[in-house]
Amino acid sequence: MSDLTFNDLGLSEALLRAVAETGYTSPTPIQAQAIPLVLAGGDLLAAAQTGTGKTAGFTLPLLQRLGDKSSRQPGRPRALVLTPTRELAAQVEESVRTYGKHLPHRSMVMFGGVGFNPQASQLRKPVDILVATPGRLLDHVSQKTLDLSGVEILVLDEADRMLDMGFIHDIRKVLALLPAKRQNLLFSATFSDEIKALADRLLNNPGLVEVARRNTTSEQVSQRVHLVDRDRKTDLLTHLIREGNWHQVLVFTRTKHGANRLAEKLDKSGISAAAIHGNKSQSARTRALADFKSNDLQVLVATDIAARGLDIDLLPHVVNFELPNVPEDYVHRIGRTGRAGSTGEAVSLVCVDEFRFLADIEKLIRQPIEKFVIPGFEADLTVKPEPIPMGRGQAMRGGNSRGGAPRGGNGQGNRSQGNAARQGQAPRQGGNGSGNGNGQSRRKPAASSRRPQGGNGR
Ligand code: AMP
Repeated sequence: MSDLTFNDLGLSEALLRAVAETGYTSPTPIQAQAIPLVLAGGDLLAAAQTGTGKTAGFTLPLLQRLGDKSSRQPGRPRALVLTPTRELAAQVEESVRTYGKHLPHRSMVMFGGVGFNPQASQLRKPVDILVATPGRLLDHVSQKTLDLSGVEILVLDEADRMLDMGFIHDIRKVLALLPAKRQNLLFSATFSDEIKALADRLLNNPGLVEVARRNTTSEQVSQRVHLVDRDRKTDLLTHLIREGNWHQVLVFTRTKHGANRLAEKLDKSGISAAAIHGNKSQSARTRALADFKSNDLQVLVATDIAARGLDIDLLPHVVNFELPNVPEDYVHRIGRTGRAGSTGEAVSLVCVDEFRFLADIEKLIRQPIEKFVIPGFEADLTVKPEPIPMGRGQAMRGGNSRGGAPRGGNGQGNRSQGNAARQGQAPRQGGNGSGNGNGQSRRKPAASSRRPQGGNGR
């Protein structure tokens, strides 16, 4: 990787100039692998998460494949990029503009939750590259404001998330509207059987690119679990943020309602916070994201779906205020930190109701996550787990009825974690919050038998 430059990838002068203007010096691994494959015209199956540079990985060669002439046909795009969320659609289209700035192509972004008519009038002009979420796209097709019969290149970005969000039927409908002969690129962070089935149907002898192994967590990320009572999570989070002087903290909740409530509570306690989720207006989401990026907002509270695809670099802290019930989401979530060679910290606040989720996550990532107790926040592990309300009518799978404590890698139980707390053996929450990773991350105990090192937790 080290010596490779963008000049080696076969990109045109107009694209190289745009790349140089962004300040990138060398291609990321996914770019180095994907760009030549896509330029050669073949289909592509890429395993890559947000943060790997995947957007430029498909945008640059896509722009080149479209040639240096712009479309003359109104509402009939030549390239279609489908994304699961509005935020991701907006970010991808921004990248198209950035990398295509010395080319004549016209791009457009399209998603629901905003007016239909402005999009319809934009479609009365020629458009080369359309970046869209599936629902609104199909609305335009049915209103005959959009014609997909000219699509030469299709990109499914974050395909796994699109399926998680129930877009498979919409995707099938879109595929049926496209010309048979086209180039297909599929990006996904994980590979379920469903994704494999979609890839089998969609892709023709694809090139394979993989930059992150399936369901592994970055070694740059130190992970820990704080065992805590369910009604003390907000206090503990406030404590961690204050004591560690954390800034740019991305906090995940399971539900939109939970995100709102937590953001309000944090804000009231003097920690600036905003919630970002599907019920928020597009302008509120955009504003919250901009404030967070510019450091005007200390905490962004997000649901999994809203956070997916957010282009936020180098987050030092990701907090799972609640564990996700889908273990893969844990991997996605903590993928927001420790990017680009910097170290990050992923902290999960876990109460007895979530032990089952924790066990599922540890199984998926094939390692136990170290458990800690912060003095003053000792959890009572003997309380009966309660079922977890999932919202949106989802099935419940939490509430470990066995009431068992989480297990460490050695299979030992964890019932005496109170000892660790009583003895004041908790991790240091020192300094800027980033200096306490080493001693912890090398150890993989359950909290009971091998206590985390590092002074008392203040
Ligand atoms: P993505 O995975 O596409 O969401 O990109 C993640 C971040 O990496 C974005 O902020 C990009 O601007 C940035 N990025 C993309 N390619 C490069 C590169 N070759 N060098 C440095 N940063 C990059």
